Amino acid sequence: MAVLVINSGSSSIKYQLVEPDDGAIVASGLVERIGEPEGRIEHSDRAGSTETTEPIPDHRAGLQLAFAMFARGGAPLESLGITAVGHRVVHGGKVFTEPTVVTDAVIAEVDKLSALAPLHNPPNLLGIEVARALLPDVPHVAVFDTAFFQTLPPAASTYAIDAELAKKHGVQRYGFHGTSHQYVSQQVASFLGRPGSELNQIILHLGNGASASAVRGGVAVDTSMGLTPLEGLVMGTRSGDIDPGILLHLRRSADMTVDDLDALLNRHSGLKGLSGVNDFRALSELVAAEDKQAALAYDVYVHRLRKYIGAYLVALGRLDVITFTAGVGENAPQVRADALANLAELGIVVDAAANERRAKGPRVISAPESKVAVLVVPTNEELAIARAAAELSG
Ligand code: ADP
Repeated sequence: MAVLVINSGSSSIKYQLVEPDDGAIVASGLVERIGEPEGRIEHSDRAGSTETTEPIPDHRAGLQLAFAMFARGGAPLESLGITAVGHRVVHGGKVFTEPTVVTDAVIAEVDKLSALAPLHNPPNLLGIEVARALLPDVPHVAVFDTAFFQTLPPAASTYAIDAELAKKHGVQRYGFHGTSHQYVSQQVASFLGRPGSELNQIILHLGNGASASAVRGGVAVDTSMGLTPLEGLVMGTRSGDIDPGILLHLRRSADMTVDDLDALLNRHSGLKGLSGVNDFRALSELVAAEDKQAALAYDVYVHRLRKYIGAYLVALGRLDVITFTAGVGENAPQVRADALANLAELGIVVDAAANERRAKGPRVISAPESKVAVLVVPTNEELAIARAAAELSG
């Protein structure tokens, strides 16, 4: 039994064939530069890894090529016993509060939500449509990035702007990375051997995109991303929180168009805007070489992170666990140490040696005297999607 997980973006498709019970990855791959003169496909399965380049005109061609890669490895897709396909969908609006079996009506709803996520929902839908045509006999399940945050109380999800205008245009905080926050919060509970319903948690998902969440008894009560995945923490290329007046100022004084501002905040800001590099490892190398802008970018990144930790500590009142996850959270001990430095008064003490130790699985990095447990827990969105799809198809 295996579930095919598809993450279809604007110019790339990531896929993974996963056994949902134990998380074993049967095959995985990446189709990228779709629509460009030279596309690229990377595929790994039990027969090995291959990489090819050829023009990939559209998503249909991309998925077809990916599916053909399975046959090249000697195990055509039809022979692999696929029981369901799980699709990552970025925006589920207020409609989708949990994973949902794809029907024509679901597709129509996701399409309507494209206005809220114009860069994400349309390519997500393309992936769904093409995969449904190629694998018509298994259930397809949409798993929404926003779903876990549908429980935010109105005080946390409401922006203080004209209420009618906000309602008319769906302007509210939805939150993203929900599949990761939910998966990690459940992993934390099982790792600690305690029911999720008893735990107050802060989860810091620090990857290229980055977000924080406050989870009370398994239920999300606040999160840093908002109407779009732009709000909150400093990210690789996204600004996170800024004064909205900056947009008005730049529109008027720098004669920037809406598209210019969109590109500025989504692609040329964050670590990249401050230091020239968006990748955290590259940033760390610049910091080590005493690059001043890189050092500033690092300090802004950590300062923002600490602000959110403080805010969520107060929002939760009592805190049991802080967990770091995703590329930076799992692999950058310095960020973890700096994010939680000097908080002993608040019952948060990181153990330096445990924090530095490299390991693959979930682990505790707090000192024995720390009232709040501090953990590193690897996220696995593909497995979470595969499990949701398996559950709904069973
Ligand atoms: P995505 O949001 O694309 O899923 P990831 O969770 O893979 O991102 O995180 C990517 C980020 O993690 C990059 O900035 C990368 O530099 C950083 N990262 C990965 N490995 C390390 C490492 N060993 N040390 C520091 N940063 C790392």
